[in-house]
Amino acid sequence: MPIKLWILFSVLSGLITRSAIANLRIVTTTEDLRSITEAIGDEFISVSSIAKGTQDPHYVEAKPSFLVAVSRADLVISIGLELESGWLPLLLRGARQPKLLPGEPGCLSVSEAIIPIEIRAQADRSDGDIHPLGNPHFMADPQRVILVAELISKRLSELDPAHAKNFKQNLERFKLKLLNKIAVWKQKMGPFKGIKVIGYHMTFNYLFKFFDFDVVGFLEPKPGISPTAQHILKLIETAKIKKVKIIVIENFFDPKPGVTLAEKTKAKLVMIPAYVGGDDSSKNYFDWMDTVVNNLEMNLK
Ligand SMILES: [Zn+2]
Repeated sequence: MPIKLWILFSVLSGLITRSAIANLRIVTTTEDLRSITEAIGDEFISVSSIAKGTQDPHYVEAKPSFLVAVSRADLVISIGLELESGWLPLLLRGARQPKLLPGEPGCLSVSEAIIPIEIRAQADRSDGDIHPLGNPHFMADPQRVILVAELISKRLSELDPAHAKNFKQNLERFKLKLLNKIAVWKQKMGPFKGIKVIGYHMTFNYLFKFFDFDVVGFLEPKPGISPTAQHILKLIETAKIKKVKIIVIENFFDPKPGVTLAEKTKAKLVMIPAYVGGDDSSKNYFDWMDTVVNNLEMNLK
């Protein structure tokens, strides 16, 4: 091999080897987590999500392709609070990687960073069987997302100390942008403080709290239980008495019960993407929240 070509080859292969070693392979359970991890890890990581934003993350099929992705991962990032309890433990056990088991460096549940709302006393199962540890849908609360981003940055730095400085810089950039966006979103929703809302599942409770909306009911009679005709009748009465303005439904749920409710009351039905990747305009965390806020604003005006 001519000497110049040999040098070029050596340099290129060196670069490829270095970047392959440096890149942390990360699997997240949801697209929200993928988006935030990507913002912080940037070129020093590769990341993929198991659940798509168009899917209900409570119920995900533990496909063999996910098992392959998890078994190759350096880090698995999940929401926690039992959101993924129906499928993630299967994947983690199946991956047979001791470093990914709970308590190990390769396993991160971001619920550690936040205090959840709606924690139920263990004996009280009257509100249904899911989410007794508290509401796991906190990614819809931009303030809590700051804490989540800080925790992810910390873990990336522990696993790849050589790039800790980069992760910190990316974190600061992300936080600054998020704080600016929070001001914009709060301003847009400001005129609608106190409006009465009916949800489907408890997916947007953090968001409603964040904007000071008043949630007066859910299409699900209990968390995780599909709407019944009898329950809808009750909700029609509630919506009339409380003057409910909007019915907000995650776009992967059946809209029919919401359509019925909207027809019988003065409430407007709003279908919104529940997660990053939930529609074409929600590619990352900022786009998703923009979509949600703009959608709410359009329907509340
Ligand atoms: Zn849920």
